[in-house]
Amino acid sequence: MVLKIGITGGIGSGKTTVAKIFSLLNVPVYNADAASKRLYHTDKELMANIKKHFGEDIYTQDQLNRSKLAALVFNNEENLALLNSLVHPPTIKDADNWMHQQTGPYIIKEAALLFESGSAGNLDYIIGVHTPDFLRIKRAMDRDHVSREVVLSRMNKQIDEIIKMKLCDFIIENNEQQLVIPQVLELHNIFLQLAAQKSA
Ligand code: ATP
Repeated sequence: MVLKIGITGGIGSGKTTVAKIFSLLNVPVYNADAASKRLYHTDKELMANIKKHFGEDIYTQDQLNRSKLAALVFNNEENLALLNSLVHPPTIKDADNWMHQQTGPYIIKEAALLFESGSAGNLDYIIGVHTPDFLRIKRAMDRDHVSREVVLSRMNKQIDEIIKMKLCDFIIENNEQQLVIPQVLELHNIFLQLAAQKSA
């Protein structure tokens, strides 16, 4: 089995950007967010569970009504926890299937909720992308064209950044002070060595 590396970090920290640099180095990357968006339309069991708990009209001819679902989970902790409990298990299973098909020395799984979803336990090492809050807020506002309040309320739904970073094995600083690519290259070399040790 290949060495499994997770990348996590808060909203707007730069997980996807960092993961893209690894993919340029030919490292296979799994994006849990993109996968869950696909599973909403392809996983029959997940679709049935969502309809069961949130109402049949969440789907129109197998097309998810995203704004309706978002309205139900936005500012409703119970519904959000319920949705996560429905989406995380099939996403973790999908990631596991994907990992079993990979052959490279190591793979990357990128997920915002790596710890919250329980999938961290299935990975060998975890990278935290650490970015100061003011930059995360600015980047997420610019990228998604949303207000500061919207970004803050999304941030509040994730576990505390300081705790999250403490749980990680490696940290990439994405703070506009330190260059990111050399940090990725350094970790790439470490992971190649760890992968060689794992397969020895
Ligand atoms: P989310 O969890 O919200 O999807 P993310 O952690 O995957 O976010 P990205 O989408 O990679 O974050 O980055 C957020 C935004 O910040 C993007 O528009 C990205 O281009 C930009 N960004 C990331 N890192 C940098 C950087 N070092 N310099 C400038 N812009 C950056």
